[in-house]
Amino acid sequence: MSINIPFVDLTLQHAPIQTELEQAIQDVLTVGDFVLGQALVNFETAFAAACGTGYGVGVASGTDAIALGLQACNIGAGDEVILPANTFVATLIGVLRAGATPIFVDCHPETALIDLEAAAKVVTSKTKAIIPVHLYGQMVSPKQLLDFADTYKLLIFEDAAQAHLAEREGYRAGAVGIAAAFSFYPSKNLGAFGDGGMLVTKDADVAQKMKRLRNYGAAQKYFHVESGTNSRLDTIQAAILQRKLPYLSQWNSDRQRIAQQYDSQLSSLMNSGIIPIQNQSANGHVYHLYVIRVQETCSLPREEIQGKLADLGIQTGIHYPIPCHLQPAFTYLRYQIGDFPHAERLAKEILSLPMYPGLQSIQVNSVVDALVTMLTGEQQKLLYV
Ligand SMILES: *Cc1c(COP(=O)(O)O)cnc(C)c1O
Repeated sequence: MSINIPFVDLTLQHAPIQTELEQAIQDVLTVGDFVLGQALVNFETAFAAACGTGYGVGVASGTDAIALGLQACNIGAGDEVILPANTFVATLIGVLRAGATPIFVDCHPETALIDLEAAAKVVTSKTKAIIPVHLYGQMVSPKQLLDFADTYKLLIFEDAAQAHLAEREGYRAGAVGIAAAFSFYPSKNLGAFGDGGMLVTKDADVAQKMKRLRNYGAAQKYFHVESGTNSRLDTIQAAILQRKLPYLSQWNSDRQRIAQQYDSQLSSLMNSGIIPIQNQSANGHVYHLYVIRVQETCSLPREEIQGKLADLGIQTGIHYPIPCHLQPAFTYLRYQIGDFPHAERLAKEILSLPMYPGLQSIQVNSVVDALVTMLTGEQQKLLYV
């Protein structure tokens, strides 16, 4: 039997508001301010406010938000920046493009979030900043981060690309550090119709510098005070994102509903070696991804589970199969296998299950049922309604 559950389905969130979205695009066509237009300014203001911070600067991608954002915070050559080994490679690329030296640390074995005790051990006199990655939609503890940054006198630069409107300990993602990078890649919790990103910051100077950096380093037209680049969030994309923003919290709630269902139904597989990545942030986790671990004790290897699910029509993903420090492009950084055992083990164990607003509970049942059947041989017939 084929079930056909994609890993992500964006049509479900767009279909109900298609007229609104088309109108947003039409409005920009009518005015014609395609670059640095009014809808961009409006969205920058609205999104920064939604994050609980002061300024937003829209750029071409999340990667640019990190690379240019670090520069805007005056982090660059000669500075060491601490980041987790188990992140999307863009975090690392951002650090390298800013000219800073990346210093990897391991993650917590259960939450997959950066291990601040490990981070404390690599602080040197050159360390300037730490990049907590709010991985899968769960924030790194703001309290612990602020303590850490205070102790070692470091800047916190959040990679919030997977954590739009995530919350923990009274903080929103993007409002903990001096600045934070967001991505609006289509499948992110808030996604554009193409690439996009934003730096949010509480610091007016950082915002000003970011605005220059995205616009050829120009302080005013044809007056260049530094060397920047061309990286602006298109007005059309900003207009689309502005129309989608009011729905973001309900989409996140839908993700949380799905995660709760996975959590409760998958608990029966704990003895079979399947456990979800731990949520320590209560209701603030926004589940960009729902990730389980196929532990060594599991009767089937991860690849076989993934293959059997695919045969049934259930698409899954691995985020991410190779930790940054072991990617071939970065061997020159001289890290090796064994340096970060938790990150390396998780890379072998993790499996991301279908997760998107509009995924039906009967479909979640089918995913769990497929796993239960292949791992215990028990048919959960009741779950197929
Ligand atoms: C998506 C993502 C990025 C990069 O964003 P792009 O818009 O794709 O450039 C950076 N960091 C993390 C953790 C991401 O998930």
